[in-house]
Amino acid sequence: MYSIPVSDPRVNELITWYLGALQRAIDIIWDNIEWKYRFPKIERRKQVVIIPSKFKVPELPKSKSFKKRLRDELLLNCPYAKHWVDAVIRTAYSIMESWKKRYLKGRVRKVKPRVRRRFARCKITLMRVDYGEKRIRITIKPGEYIEISWSGKWFTRRVEGWRVGEIVLKDDRVLIPFKSTRVIEVRDAVAWDSNELSLDGFSPRIGFIRVDLKPLQSMKIVYERKKRIAQSRGLKGIYEKYVTREHNRERDFVNKLASGLTRLFPNTIHVFEDLEKEDLVCKKKTSRNRRKRNARTPWISIQKKISEKAVAVKVSPKNTSRTCPRCGYVAKTRVGRVYKCPKCGFELDRQKLASINIYLKHSKMRGFPHSDDPEKAMKGELWAGVTPSGWSPVIWIPVKRDPEGSEAKGRGLNIKQYQAQ
Ligand SMILES: [Zn+2]
Repeated sequence: MYSIPVSDPRVNELITWYLGALQRAIDIIWDNIEWKYRFPKIERRKQVVIIPSKFKVPELPKSKSFKKRLRDELLLNCPYAKHWVDAVIRTAYSIMESWKKRYLKGRVRKVKPRVRRRFARCKITLMRVDYGEKRIRITIKPGEYIEISWSGKWFTRRVEGWRVGEIVLKDDRVLIPFKSTRVIEVRDAVAWDSNELSLDGFSPRIGFIRVDLKPLQSMKIVYERKKRIAQSRGLKGIYEKYVTREHNRERDFVNKLASGLTRLFPNTIHVFEDLEKEDLVCKKKTSRNRRKRNARTPWISIQKKISEKAVAVKVSPKNTSRTCPRCGYVAKTRVGRVYKCPKCGFELDRQKLASINIYLKHSKMRGFPHSDDPEKAMKGELWAGVTPSGWSPVIWIPVKRDPEGSEAKGRGLNIKQYQAQ
């Protein structure tokens, strides 16, 4: 989302009308809600949960005839292009849907939503984009337009070749979402297990991959101490400064990590555990360790960054650290550094187990060809790291090691450097 300043009284007038119409649409939808006794189904972190008790559920009116009446009503006092009414209706429904969702989760009360922020969400049909001239023409009334140009803006080069999505008008600026249309041909997959000090990957083409996250951890520990000291001395300004700095350095690390990984593994789909689902799947057993792990390592933002730069998918984290990748047996307990399958005798370092299981989950689900037998692929190993210091480039140092070897560092053969910008 990029912002371009705009100063046009017509925009302010349009927003004023838009908000009035939007509230009216919400009022009308609200008055036509049917309250029905149901066992409500709600989506909680991408999982559908059925609430075990019956209670009154709001059903939003959605019939064609209702929508037509709503549209006619709003068109009565509309000096603008008709598509603006459709934009209003769509926004009203999305506000009501999100109210309903939150209401069912018990987060909001049975109170009609009120629109407070001043904005107007445009529709694609109201916009004409000239990519050559880098200009957007927005229809206000039939034959009346507002033009916005992103030519020569600071982000112009960054969005070269991208498509414009639906814009949002504010009183003093226009927000434009750009979407990359780049198509990535996927030829390989890497599955990642997120641990506190490392990102452990598996790909049948490469074998195991270990990305060292210790520099990020040490940076965070240093800032935790600095913040604690500032706080104990009541130095609020300095404390805030450390918060910002830590945040910036973390973001920098995440950016470098993501661009490094996408360069190191081109045409690759990255498979992650769905960490938001994790709490639901195994609430009691692992939550303490996991919570600790998640506290310092910004997993969600690492995953997000990688999915911005490359193709990424999530799989359920269920049993990934307890399942035997050879025979599928699910062990009851998780003890020891080495996983040993009680059924088939398969043995593997536990830290590597999850990544191979995440990979297998993905390949089964997507029918991704795993041409290589994972057990053969397990012979390879790649070590990588990110240098978070400002001046030095990201350096990847893959070190080949013999598969049975226990300690990898120091036995580095074939050190190769990749540089990411
Ligand atoms: Zn087994």
